[in-house]
Amino acid sequence: MGAEAGSPRDTALGQQLRALFYALLPGESSFRTVEEVPNYVDKSIPFFITFIGLEFAVSWIQKRKLLGRINDGITSLSLGILSRLPDVLFRSIDLISYIYVWNNYRLLELPWDSPWTWYLTLLGVDFAYYCFHRISHEVNILWAAHQVHHSSEDYNLFTALRQSVLQKYTSWMFNLPMALFIPPSVFAVHLQFNLLYQFWIHTEVITKLGPLEWILNTPSHHRVHHGRNPYCIDKNYGGTLIIWDRIFGTFEAEDEKVVYGLTHPVNSFDPIMLQLRPLAHIWNTFWATPGFCNKLSVIFKGPGWGPGKPRLGLPEEIPVITGKEVPFNPPVPAYCNCYALVHFAIIVDLYTELLASVSMLSQGTVLLRIGFIILSLSSFGLLMENKSKAGILEIIRCSVFIGVYKLGYFRSQFSVLGYAYEVLFSFCAAFWGIQIMKRITSFKDKHH
Ligand SMILES: [Zn+2]
Ligand SMILES: [Zn+2]
Repeated sequence: MGAEAGSPRDTALGQQLRALFYALLPGESSFRTVEEVPNYVDKSIPFFITFIGLEFAVSWIQKRKLLGRINDGITSLSLGILSRLPDVLFRSIDLISYIYVWNNYRLLELPWDSPWTWYLTLLGVDFAYYCFHRISHEVNILWAAHQVHHSSEDYNLFTALRQSVLQKYTSWMFNLPMALFIPPSVFAVHLQFNLLYQFWIHTEVITKLGPLEWILNTPSHHRVHHGRNPYCIDKNYGGTLIIWDRIFGTFEAEDEKVVYGLTHPVNSFDPIMLQLRPLAHIWNTFWATPGFCNKLSVIFKGPGWGPGKPRLGLPEEIPVITGKEVPFNPPVPAYCNCYALVHFAIIVDLYTELLASVSMLSQGTVLLRIGFIILSLSSFGLLMENKSKAGILEIIRCSVFIGVYKLGYFRSQFSVLGYAYEVLFSFCAAFWGIQIMKRITSFKDKHH
C-alpha cells in the first residue's frame, strides 16, 4: 500500500472523507484498471475512529450520556476486523467472480471514463445490494450470516462496523449481471462507496433529514431496519438509496421508539460465537424437523418459518416490545473492560500495521499475525463475559506475543511503543498467572 505521491493510489484526505458519504464525482473516482482503484475502505479507518469520537461528543452534548458501551463497541469493532481478514490474504471474492464473468462472458463494454457508466453503476450496485439484503433476511441460511450485523443491541457508529465474515461468500453472485457490461474498475469503486455510505447512517444523533429522506437511506430509515419492534421487522433494506424499498413495498417510516437487536438475542461478546451459534441453531433445527421438504424449508425459508406456517413465519410470533428490554451486559470487574480496551487498541495498531506492510511480508508471517489477531479478539470476548477460561487464554496470548515480538514477527506502527508493549505484555502475563493461582488456592481452601 506504500503509495507514491502523485500516483492514482494517493487519494487526498478530502476525497477520502467524501468517499464516506458517496460524495465523489465521476471525474475523480474513475479508473482504467482495477489495480488503480484505491482501497477506500482500509484508508477510512482513521475517519471511522474520528467519527466515533465525534458521535460520543455530540451524544454527550445532546443527552448528557454516552451512546455506547465498551463491551458492545469492542465486539462490533472485532467483528469489523475479522470480516476484513480474508481480504488481507486474497483478493475479495466479489472481485474475483466479477472479473471472471467480465473476462469470459461480457456482452458489451461500457466506457470506464463516462459519467453515465459511473451513475448507472451506482444504481446497479445499490439495487443488487437491495436484492441481496432482502434475501439475506428472508432465507434462513443467508440470515445466519447476515444476523451478525444485527446482533448489537446498541445503535451507533460501532454497529456499522459489525460485519459478518461469512456474508461476502453469499453476496458476490448478486453483482454478476453487471459484469456483462460494466468494467470491473468502475464496479470496484462503487462496491466500496456503497459499503462506506452505510457507515454514517448508524447513529441516533441525527434525527431526520427533511426531503433527503425521500431518496436516500438515512439514519432514521436504517434505525427502523435495526429494530426488533414488530413494525420494524423486514423493512428498509436499502443501502444508499431508499427508493427500492418505496418501489417494492418494504418501506416503513420511523415511528415508536426503536428497540435494537435480534428478536432472539445471541447474548455474547465472543466474535466467533456470534458467527457460529446461529449456524448451529439451523443445524439442530434441521435434524429436529421431520420430513425432507420441511428440512429443506428450514434452510431456505425465513428464519421465523416452521411446519404449517407461511414462508416468512407468523407476524404474531414476533415478541412484543415492552420498552423494558435490557441489553446483554454481564457484570464484570471494571478492570476487565479497561484491560480489553487497552489490548484492543494494540490489536488495532497491529492490524493497521499489517495492512500497511502485507506486500512485504512472507505468507507465514501474515498467517501468524492473523492467527494472533483472531486469538486476541476471541479472548477479549470471553474476558468481557467474565468467563473463567479468559485468564488462561490471556496468559497464553501474552506469552505468545512476547516471544513472537522479540523475534521480530510483530511490529507496532509507532516504534516508540515497541519497548512499552514488551513491558505491558510481561506484566499482564504475570497478572493473570497470579489471578489463576489465587483462584486455585481459594478452591483448595473451600474443599478442605
Ligand atoms: Zn439487515
Ligand atoms: Zn446496519
